[in-house]
Amino acid sequence: MTTPPFGFTSKESNHNAVQLSIIIPFFNEREVLSLCHARLTPILNSLSESYEIVFVDDGSTDDSISILAAIIPTHPKTKVVRLSRNFGKEAAMSAGLAHATGAAIIVLDADLQDPPELIPKMVQAWRSGVDVVSMRRRRRHGEGWLKRFSAFSFYRILSGLSRSQIPSDTGDFRLMSRRVVDLLLLFPERCRYMKGLYAWVGFPTAILDYDRDPRAAGTTKWNYLALFGLALEGITSFSTAPLRWAAALGTIVALFGGFFGFWILLKTVLFGHDVPGYPSLMAMITLLSGIQLLTIGLLGEYAGKAYMESKQRPLYVVRDVIDMNTVGASDLSSADRANIVSL
Ligand code: UDP
Ligand code: MG
Repeated sequence: MTTPPFGFTSKESNHNAVQLSIIIPFFNEREVLSLCHARLTPILNSLSESYEIVFVDDGSTDDSISILAAIIPTHPKTKVVRLSRNFGKEAAMSAGLAHATGAAIIVLDADLQDPPELIPKMVQAWRSGVDVVSMRRRRRHGEGWLKRFSAFSFYRILSGLSRSQIPSDTGDFRLMSRRVVDLLLLFPERCRYMKGLYAWVGFPTAILDYDRDPRAAGTTKWNYLALFGLALEGITSFSTAPLRWAAALGTIVALFGGFFGFWILLKTVLFGHDVPGYPSLMAMITLLSGIQLLTIGLLGEYAGKAYMESKQRPLYVVRDVIDMNTVGASDLSSADRANIVSL
């Protein structure tokens, strides 16, 4: 398969060369990559389906790539799509989807939080005729209450807002049929909230429950600020309801202000009271400027999104694809090569 430099490759992709593709996006995961590969391969070998493992190196700056380059010569079904820099997990997943050739595609985290042991069950569900097998987290081991609570609230707010039903507590760990993936690859949008896009596509879906394991090693790549950004991305990509809320809030506050003014006027004219002074004025000004700034920010969020989309930049850039044929010839740096030899 030729290496496309940019996204949008679904039409040229060599469909169904294998039955099952496993996509693993990763960013600086040197501690878990060999563990992940070692746990995954016996499970895939036990299946009757032919398979490929597509790692997507999302611009790692550690020696993750040399760990995989050392694995590839003995595991020809494994390849690595290396991006030119860190584009974020959503873009890395899109790169993986574009390079996967399977009739069914499974997205998996490198840190083994999504147990690969569930793959046979997912394949079985797919064979029974569904297009999507979503994995719903029953329990999240090794994640603090704040993360669990924020995830819980976010999924519920989002599904309340969005027209397409985005199932709660399902992440990126899922199986998708070729036609679903082909559709996803046609989406032109740059701001990609994948969990929303999966739901938007629709198609018959099976939901399997599982317990999410703690990370096998290494540290999470998300902090709360990044998660807040992703949550905002999710909501603004799939709903314009916050704009309506802003308008509703503006109406309520304006009505309140009107009545309040009328009340002061009445008090002054009928009872000769003084106009209440500085503190109430300050309170009103602060309240109103807060609401104004919030709504301007909200408007800006949507305008910014339209601006980003209008630039039509590629989603990601592929530096190279390292597989059985190219592992010797790829532009691994001399430091990378030294690492391969020493492994
Ligand atoms: N990841 C990625 N690009 C990024 C951040 C994360 O490809 O910019 C990968 C990461 O290596 C892992 C998966 O996305 O395979 C999930 O990330 P992580 O475990 O850090 O997130 P969490 O499970 O804590 O939500
Ligand atoms: Mg994780």
